[in-house]
Amino acid sequence: MQSAEGSENGILEQIKRLKELQSVSSELHEMEETLRKYPEELSVLNGEIKSVQEILAEKTLQTEDADKSKSLLEKDLSEKQLYIGKAEERLLNIKTHREYEALQKELTEAKRRCIEIEEEILELMGKLETLGAETGELEQSLKEKTEQNAPRIEEIEKVIGKLETEAAPCRERRDSIAGGLSPEVHSVYAKISGKTHIFLAEARSEMCMNCNMNIPPQMFNEVLTGAKIIQCPNCNRILHCENA
Ligand SMILES: [Zn+2]
Repeated sequence: MQSAEGSENGILEQIKRLKELQSVSSELHEMEETLRKYPEELSVLNGEIKSVQEILAEKTLQTEDADKSKSLLEKDLSEKQLYIGKAEERLLNIKTHREYEALQKELTEAKRRCIEIEEEILELMGKLETLGAETGELEQSLKEKTEQNAPRIEEIEKVIGKLETEAAPCRERRDSIAGGLSPEVHSVYAKISGKTHIFLAEARSEMCMNCNMNIPPQMFNEVLTGAKIIQCPNCNRILHCENA
């Protein structure tokens, strides 16, 4: 009788420990679920900003290229104009008809090229104007997106930091409680908790409150008296009575 009572107390003590363990595990599970969910949202929010930044970077590159081409063409144009000026002066002092013809031909070609360059410069100016407008719009949209997403990003980062800080001692507490279970109970707990974070189920009125299936009366009685660890025949959870 003495030893039976002792073993009953032992099981009830283990159930008490399991309840504590269940509460810590549920808390931890909730934290881990939240920690799992947030990185996805963060990557969506950051991705929205990043995609505008990428288009903006591409436009900046195109603007730099167009600017560079325009500068080169302007340099080329001024060199050609200088050449034309000098050649026109030379033309006045040429003695032979042949030389005159040759220089005249070069001049015509240079002037024709100048017109072409001017057209290319005009085209680039138009392109630069369009790029400038597009860049302005993108900068505005980047500003808006950043302002829109920044508070949520900051909030999430704060929550993640807080949860990570809280989860560590919670895990330690869970492991410490689990470490205090008897080897027999621990092995049942380890088996169930490897599959689900809810390893405990209340037995009430001959029913399992986790899966709502009936528990045979004899088995229910064993749960009530705390004679041994009883698992629900349907969902496998460790059964306990709230008032036991
Ligand atoms: Zn059940």
